[in-house]
Amino acid sequence: MGSGAHVIHYPLRRGELVSFVGIVERGDWQVESWTEKGDVEEFLRNFAGWHEDVHTLIRALDTPFKWALMGREPASNWTEGRVTLRGDAAHPTLPFLAQGAVMAIEDGYLLARCLEASRHDPQACLQAYQDARIERTSRIVRGSADNAKRFHNPSLAHAEGVAAYVDREWSEEKVRALRMALRIQCGRSAHRAAGVANALR
Ligand SMILES: Cc1cc2nc3c(=O)[nH]c(=O)nc-3n(C[C@H](O)[C@H](O)[C@H](O)COP(=O)(O)OP(=O)(O)OC[C@H]3O[C@@H](n4cnc5c(N)ncnc54)[C@H](O)[C@@H]3O)c2cc1C
Repeated sequence: MGSGAHVIHYPLRRGELVSFVGIVERGDWQVESWTEKGDVEEFLRNFAGWHEDVHTLIRALDTPFKWALMGREPASNWTEGRVTLRGDAAHPTLPFLAQGAVMAIEDGYLLARCLEASRHDPQACLQAYQDARIERTSRIVRGSADNAKRFHNPSLAHAEGVAAYVDREWSEEKVRALRMALRIQCGRSAHRAAGVANALR
């Protein structure tokens, strides 16, 4: 993590490959594409001054690809009559909580359950699906956007700033409060899921 940027990397295929993504904030992106080629020199320039390990990973790339991440406020509705959306189409999310694919799978599961339970009334079923999903997905969309501010905090550009940040954000007291909030939230989600399952029976 650093000022205005962060990197993510993890091994794939038992360590034969490494997935490497560098995220840089900029406001001038106009290209709509997943296949726009970048180049290693540009990538290195974007991460000038970062740790040598980051540069080693960038230099090991053949052809980097670049694409825009567009932040959006959560939609308040994604169902009209007998038409609905799922996954990114319903709740496009910055990938900073690693939950986009997870939410798409959850949507698919719940949608299938709803359709199975009330084939005779597809409109009510699609509405029940959206009602069950909208609060959780909106929370994740907002949480992911909030993480951009955390990951790209300008004070993370120097060691003292990092130390102060970790002391503040990861104090025992704060972690305990977070754990408690998560427990309450998980309890609520389980309760809501049980409610949807009962309503569809
Ligand atoms: C850098 C990055 C890292 C990520 N990391 C994670 C992670 O760690 N964990 C996680 O859970 N999520 C992660 N995500 C998010 C995740 O990839 C998406 O949320 C997920 O793929 C959304 O699934 P989807 O089915 O909604 O859409 P997509 O996966 O985009 O699928 C839509 C499909 O529809 C096709 N399509 C589009 N238009 C048409 C058309 N007109 N006709 C026919 N087909 C069409 C597309 O080609 C595509 O195959 C990450 C995303 C990015 C960008």
